[in-house]
Amino acid sequence: MKVLVINCGSSSFKYQFINMENRQVLCCGLVERIGTDTGSLTHKKAPCTSDEIVFKEEREFATHTDGITRVMSLLTDAEYGVIKDLSEISACGHRGVMGAEKFTKPTLVEPGMLATLDDLSVLAPLHNPPTIQGMRIMSELLPCPSVAVFDTEFHSTMPEHAYKYALPNDLYTKYGIRRYGFHGTSHRYVAEQAADFLGKPRDGVNLITCHLGNGSSISAVRDGKCVDTSMGLTPLSGVVMGTRCGDIDPAISNYLAERTGKTVAEIDKMFNSESGLKGLSGMNDMRDIHAAREKGDQGAELAFEMFCYSIRKTIGSYYAVLGRVDALVFTAGIGENDDISRAAICKDFESLGIALDLEKNGQRSGEARSISKPGMAVDVLVIPTNEELAIAIATMNVLKAA
Ligand code: AMP
Repeated sequence: MKVLVINCGSSSFKYQFINMENRQVLCCGLVERIGTDTGSLTHKKAPCTSDEIVFKEEREFATHTDGITRVMSLLTDAEYGVIKDLSEISACGHRGVMGAEKFTKPTLVEPGMLATLDDLSVLAPLHNPPTIQGMRIMSELLPCPSVAVFDTEFHSTMPEHAYKYALPNDLYTKYGIRRYGFHGTSHRYVAEQAADFLGKPRDGVNLITCHLGNGSSISAVRDGKCVDTSMGLTPLSGVVMGTRCGDIDPAISNYLAERTGKTVAEIDKMFNSESGLKGLSGMNDMRDIHAAREKGDQGAELAFEMFCYSIRKTIGSYYAVLGRVDALVFTAGIGENDDISRAAICKDFESLGIALDLEKNGQRSGEARSISKPGMAVDVLVIPTNEELAIAIATMNVLKAA
């Protein structure tokens, strides 16, 4: 069985073609800056972990459909392809961002499902339309079934007191305003891997999972199920991120509109794209922040301090939510690779039963591992996330059950 995973962002998409028998990624790639004349396609063949790009094309890809059609022709290309015919693709797995309360499980893509997803575009105007485009073109080009796996699914188990906002209730009933959460495929994947690593049943672990990348979110997991998460109606809320501000006083938006004359859309863009680490220091990449800190850059130092502080506060609050925590899990670009952030986040947490073994924390590995001091009440794990594999597995499970 070979599964093609398509992950559409607002102006880009990633793809991975996975042989499910040995979980080998046969090829993978990225189409970026869709809709601009500086579009690019990069394509790699196994082993996709290497930096070797076997094919690159720089031109305009007018739409996601345009880019996906080009990628499909590459898959069967005599030089760069990995299959002879598209019929060798057994199934297609799509990453969906916003499934809201309609899609709380991986779902077979069919016309009725697409119409429902279209209705949800109002909640995710940048992400759902390209995802729908991807689903439509794949069902035209491929004879195999497609399955959608949503970022919001894992968080659908949150209790009402965690997902509701303290706003007039009809905002929830009329407009669907509530906490949905994001990065759910990653939180679920690392939660399951953590349970396996600890030798505990997947429905028996209590965890705090920290997905720390350019976008960051934290989830509280009780008995393997999400009970709270830091992102909300949109991915803007929660901890300080690369370019997003995270939690701020909602009155700031109105105050800024009055003081600066900016529109709500301009202010929203500022909160999403010009804030967070970038707003504080001019840099959104954590590696640049560390390099600048070493040179004594005060803006970078404050940005790093605020990033870690917001995460520590969230971990503390989720500790209170869960009562018992088996492990604190770090994943994604910063969570997996940045020992400096992990050490700063876990500093002086001994009273919570959390302490790092600094030597283990400093070691590099692509495998799941513990970086905790022995004998602490809470294990600290670094678990590489793999959203594409998680989507491919979920896709296979839906098709097996159908
Ligand atoms: P992601 O969104 O998961 O791809 O993560 C991107 C973030 O991970 C960026 O802020 C990168 O600077 C950060 N990152 C990746 N590798 C490292 C590393 N070795 N050390 C520190 N930060 C890293």
